[in-house]
Amino acid sequence: ISSTDTDVIVIGAGPAGAAAASRLAREGLRIEVLERDHFPRFSIGESLLPQCMTHLDEAGLLSSVQTADYQLKNGAVFTRDDHETAIDFRDKFSAGWGTTYQVERADFDHRLIRAASEHGARVTFGMTVTDFHPDSERPQLQVTDEAGKQTLLTARFVLDASGYGRVLARQLSLSRDPRLEPRMALFTHVEDHIDDTRFDREKILIGVHPQDTSVWYWLIPFARGRASVGVVGDIDTLSSRGESPEARWQHWIDDEPRFRKLLQGHRLIRPVGSLKGYAADVERLHGPGYALLGNAGEFLDPVFSSGVTIALRSASMAAPLVARQLDGERVDWHTEFELPLRRGIETFRTFVNAWYDGRLQSIIFHDAHPRDLKRMISSVLAGYAWDTDNPFVASPDKHLTTLAQLCGHTHSTPAAPS
Ligand code: FAD
Repeated sequence: ISSTDTDVIVIGAGPAGAAAASRLAREGLRIEVLERDHFPRFSIGESLLPQCMTHLDEAGLLSSVQTADYQLKNGAVFTRDDHETAIDFRDKFSAGWGTTYQVERADFDHRLIRAASEHGARVTFGMTVTDFHPDSERPQLQVTDEAGKQTLLTARFVLDASGYGRVLARQLSLSRDPRLEPRMALFTHVEDHIDDTRFDREKILIGVHPQDTSVWYWLIPFARGRASVGVVGDIDTLSSRGESPEARWQHWIDDEPRFRKLLQGHRLIRPVGSLKGYAADVERLHGPGYALLGNAGEFLDPVFSSGVTIALRSASMAAPLVARQLDGERVDWHTEFELPLRRGIETFRTFVNAWYDGRLQSIIFHDAHPRDLKRMISSVLAGYAWDTDNPFVASPDKHLTTLAQLCGHTHSTPAAPS
């Protein structure tokens, strides 16, 4: 690879990188994507939100997803003890898509980056970005190939979409306290063999542990009888049982009656994986000659499947700003990118906090909500966390607290994080 003619280097070929590369390449810019791994490769983050569809469309990637034969998704079912609540994303406050997909990320990410490459982005796999020097005119980075050979590259702008690699956050010491408890997830893929006719494959199933409501489960059905199944909780709690990851995962599944019953005929099709302490944040999402996208900037928590939506939205917001800047216009990255992007992230953060402190669980498992309130919550859970016409986006903490009290939530709630 040579960078003498490169306009933008994108670090990482996950959803954020692919969407940014695709959109900028379609604008005629010369884009170089550097990816450490080789695709297809496994990634966690398989349940999309309808808001994603808008951003896939903006990046020119929607048709490659729509032709993939993925499992349709139209909502979420929450289960706790004998209680079950379904939320249908088509019945929502905000305008826009009400359906999306549940995807095996190995295939999804591969499709997106192939489409970006068809739109003109150059993609090189097996290239790890190992150093970075910010500069408003010619930011510079060092890449190391699989033989250990190091090369210095420059471009006119760098987008860091390195996800959990967090390249620029590490290189520039941008990390800050994510303001969320460190948690852990144990997950795998199964042939699910679910024969319960009441089970709705078009919705993610979220379960709550019957005794410890801070432990929760996901079951994400894929096409062709496969599913992703995971459990999330406090690191010490989840690690406390079982000798191997498989034994631990099985132990926790056995604790939740609905999951145990649904999965009684399952067969594991990949080893149980684990991730811990994944919440992350940075002091700022931009600097001289660079911006941070998706998980390379901030990651909250998997409970509302917001990760890919935030990743795609960050790409959708950053790409036109990069194009404008390279065209000689002045861009105020703080007010045009950081503040509006963080606005929706904060909505999700408030919902995540309200899930773990019990307010949101009280709301979700309460049966008799007026329809307009249910539609407002459905909107946020469908990913429309930037629609400030929705009162649960405009002031989420206030509305969640009031509604939780009306639903009988009595525990004291910690102050909203500053
Ligand atoms: P990634 O998808 O992580 O892509 C980053 C890419 O950069 C990778 O391919 C990596 O190899 C590459 N890279 C890293 N370092 C370097 C380097 N130095 N040089 C070159 N390349 C590099 N999100 C959802 O939307 N739905 C879910 O259901 C969901 N479930 C989740 C469950 C768990 C337990 C966790 C932890 C997260 C979950 N997420 C979910 C979040 C989701 O995984 C991420 O938000 C999403 O993958 C972020 O996309 P991205 O493009 O920012 O980064």
